[in-house]
Amino acid sequence: ARPKAPLPPAVPSTALCQPAVFIPVDRSAEVQEARLKLPILAEEQVVMEAINENPIVIICGETGSGKTTQVPQFLYEAGYASSSGAIGITEPRRVAAVSMSQRVAKEMNLSHRVVSYQIRYEGNVTDETQIKFMTDGVLLKEIQKDFLLSKYKVIIIDEAHERSMYTDILIGLLSRIVPLRHKKGLPLKLIIMSATLRVEDFTDNTRLFSVKPPVIQVDARQFPVTVHFNKKTPLDDYSGECFRKVCKIHRMLPAGGILVFLTGQAEVHSLCRRLRKAFPYQKNNTCSAVQSAVCTPLNVVLSPLLFPQTLPKIDLSSYSVVPVDEGDEDRDGDSDADAAGSDLDLDLGDGDSEEDEKSDSSLPLFVLPLYSLLAPEKQAKVFQAPPAGTRLCVVATNVAETSLTIPGIKYVVDCGKVKKRFYDRITGVSSFRVTWISQASANQRAGRAGRTEPGHCYRLYSSAVFMDFEKFSAPEITKRPVEDLILQMKALNIEKVSWEGLCAAAAFKVVALRSQKQTERLKQQLAAKLSCPISPLGRVMATFPVAPRYAKMLALSRQQDCLPYSITIVSAMTVRELFEEFDRPAVSEAEAAQLKGKRARFLQMQKVWAGQGPMQKLGDLMVMLGAVGACEYSGCTREFCEENGLRYKAMLEIRHLRGQLTTAVNSVCTDAGLYVDPKMQPPTEAQVTCLRQIVLAGLGDHLARRVQAEELLDDKWKNAYKTALLEDPVFIHPSSVLFKELPEFVVYQEIVETTKLYMKGVSAVEPEWIPALLPPYCHFGKPLENPPPSYCPQRGRVRCHRPSVFYRVGWQLPAVEV
Ligand code: ADP
Ligand code: MG
Repeated sequence: ARPKAPLPPAVPSTALCQPAVFIPVDRSAEVQEARLKLPILAEEQVVMEAINENPIVIICGETGSGKTTQVPQFLYEAGYASSSGAIGITEPRRVAAVSMSQRVAKEMNLSHRVVSYQIRYEGNVTDETQIKFMTDGVLLKEIQKDFLLSKYKVIIIDEAHERSMYTDILIGLLSRIVPLRHKKGLPLKLIIMSATLRVEDFTDNTRLFSVKPPVIQVDARQFPVTVHFNKKTPLDDYSGECFRKVCKIHRMLPAGGILVFLTGQAEVHSLCRRLRKAFPYQKNNTCSAVQSAVCTPLNVVLSPLLFPQTLPKIDLSSYSVVPVDEGDEDRDGDSDADAAGSDLDLDLGDGDSEEDEKSDSSLPLFVLPLYSLLAPEKQAKVFQAPPAGTRLCVVATNVAETSLTIPGIKYVVDCGKVKKRFYDRITGVSSFRVTWISQASANQRAGRAGRTEPGHCYRLYSSAVFMDFEKFSAPEITKRPVEDLILQMKALNIEKVSWEGLCAAAAFKVVALRSQKQTERLKQQLAAKLSCPISPLGRVMATFPVAPRYAKMLALSRQQDCLPYSITIVSAMTVRELFEEFDRPAVSEAEAAQLKGKRARFLQMQKVWAGQGPMQKLGDLMVMLGAVGACEYSGCTREFCEENGLRYKAMLEIRHLRGQLTTAVNSVCTDAGLYVDPKMQPPTEAQVTCLRQIVLAGLGDHLARRVQAEELLDDKWKNAYKTALLEDPVFIHPSSVLFKELPEFVVYQEIVETTKLYMKGVSAVEPEWIPALLPPYCHFGKPLENPPPSYCPQRGRVRCHRPSVFYRVGWQLPAVEV
């Protein structure tokens, strides 16, 4: 018996809409059968009663229990969706929004016109859309236009446990919108869905909801998962260790899919290649003898009524853990649910086999990659049964942790790492780094092995290392750069947007990690002042669906007919990687050379097309502009892209974003009358000069100055640049057109950290522009007599003095005639 939670006082239940209708859905027999196996089906009545009676409901249940795919269907059937009000579902990841909308459309036998998705650059939403999956960022933008979200009858916030920044803000805002909607007589339902982690974050936060919303716990159908730790933790080569482990599992253990967790796309591809080589699978290769043993179908037929009693309910925390650290060789019987017993405990810590690369007589392995940028058709493959006579092996990034549930997985190989964006708290520079996961993530990953039968999880690290993991990873809102947030919140007219104010508005208890100084600096750079009201520039900036730096570029581009070009540059900069060469690791040296040659043509073209002089100085951004220009000139075809080493998908995205941004600009400057001409002419020299200044104004905090010969105290500073934000030397990335030019001042799009700190997307700046466009960066005083501490290796680094010292010495500018 579940206690009925009281209602928040602001919204009495009698006034709530309780649709009495039932909208029939025509599902296929196959879908119907699959649905009945999902734990949440048994809770449909409880879920719907709670939703009917309460404005806000929290549903939590293990990943794979059917929350994302089924709850929207319950609501639809109960008449919550109509042409006047849709059901909106937000996801923190694009891949989930797209894949889930497709799945739900298929399950409900409805067209994509009715069950649609919207992610930042694409979507298939129509006037008929009744169930809309979207990323959390998309809904936040919609709140900006219509604070009451009057288009929706229900909002579902999915994957709330991930604590993504936008999801957190959305929950904060929705906790205020729901009572407002009630006051207007247009009730809005809010459903928060999460895996069984940290539900207290939401329920116990008194600033969020005045009364605790009811929590519906969906009983997890989880089979026991035996966790095996490595004896020792491999330091670097976790990829190689994954390979060895998969080989052993495949050779020695009974049928069942393998899921490997790695950190990034490149690693995923390289492991896939190695595994395919070791256990090749040819399309017509069928081994009927083993067919029945492999990919065992779910052999329990469930009746929805019997369902919770017929299967063991196992809490994630009750995993049996085999301690192997103490050299415990005699490990067996830890999994009582599995007849195979001791065979399953591989001694995998020794890394003894060198012959693994060679093909052997084992079954073919059906290897599939899975990561968020993989094309949707390829992603969908993981949901299909593997070909007869093969074993499924999915090599995935973190997307398989909670967003997507892959059927038939019995073995999980967990490298224990994740690639995360880190924001340097002092400089705001972000970089991707591979770090240890949290204990909660490790348990989630292990859980993937026990969806359809008892499973095994092989952790490539020792239990001691596991004990050192943090319990949960910190909410993103405590880490992300604040500038984007401030701008968004201000455009929503939320007053007093300081960092603390933001936290209060979002009603989350967040430790204020950011220094006032940093906020101050952002304030200057972005020209969108923190004090209310928002400046006209800030308001214009907030209407563009891009980060503030780029928004500022757009807002400043209404001169010299520069808008079409800056729109193109901004589109190209926000789309991930234009060139194939950098998109994925080449399969062979020959391919690498070929791709490099293809890209070189654009560098060449830039020179021919633009000549030397100002165009050259727009640097990598001119190369981007050239690539888009040339591609559009040829009609933006797949053939052209392949021939020239461009990413076709990126080019399409750019085209789409150009259209979107043009619309956004037209709606702000109604008299601009812009239209997109894909085949734009190359810019004139005057326009390029103007563009360089616009880029400088937008990317102002990303200014860097080459270290002069007389400042060279140390070899590591050779050809290095000093930035306003970092203490360490940074370099122009070798892929940049300006790599050899080494202009004195440059602005960069981003810094990536590999062997050194490299600037990418570099463009040259004339020193005399800086005081005009970025006055806070300039100081007209004399250089200091003594070298500043940060330059002096003997004295070590003195962090606290860095900014002021830096400005005075590093940035003296040539005399300016006023
Ligand atoms: P939750 O949101 O609780 O994690 P989901 O609703 O995402 O659960 O998943 C429920 C089930 O639907 C899972 O068993 C999953 O494998 C299945 N599923 C999801 N997407 C697809 C798809 N595209 N094809 C086949 N099965 C799918
Ligand atoms: Mg889900």
